[in-house]
Amino acid sequence: MADRGAYPAEGMAKRKAILAQMIAKFFRHTDRLYPIVPIMGMVRNKVMPSKAQELYQGKTQCRASTHILNVMPDGRIFPCPDLLYLPEMQQGSVVENWLRASPLQPDPAMPCGECAAYGFCRGNCMKNLYLAYVKQDEDYRREVVEPICELVRFMGEEIDRHAPQEWFARATLPVRKLITDCEVYEYVEIMP
Ligand code: SF4
Repeated sequence: MADRGAYPAEGMAKRKAILAQMIAKFFRHTDRLYPIVPIMGMVRNKVMPSKAQELYQGKTQCRASTHILNVMPDGRIFPCPDLLYLPEMQQGSVVENWLRASPLQPDPAMPCGECAAYGFCRGNCMKNLYLAYVKQDEDYRREVVEPICELVRFMGEEIDRHAPQEWFARATLPVRKLITDCEVYEYVEIMP
């Protein structure tokens, strides 16, 4: 495999090995939670797929497309703090007193609709998808976005190997409540 910037082949193998260990540890107990939010969120979306949609009006799992606002010192509002340099991403202005829905939304150029992970991932980082597929930054797509998507799919497969539905059915109520309603979900995305 060609070198892939921050995600070379050897690094990918190591990441997968560590992720597999973490996921195994996550499913080891049903009476206490190993609180790794990306695993929790993926398990939540697998055992309760409706939660991945109903709370966010069917939009993505990236909070920048639903309800995170970044207000700059000059009053401009953007959905994603990493895309302040793109005028088309301005969502509003405190000074000019306007606000629109987040412009960071799924686009037909993005591959999520054909992806095996879509049901639980739902476009985990819209910045990445926007830069790779709408702005067509090929290096970023190859070196960052595709490796991350590969890791997301790997995590989904590892989680499935541990029968998440059965684990959830055996889990204690406090553990289930944390999986279902952890407030941190409102501020993070799935990102290995
Ligand atoms: S893994 Fe990548 S392509 Fe698949 S749904 Fe998630 S963001 Fe989209």
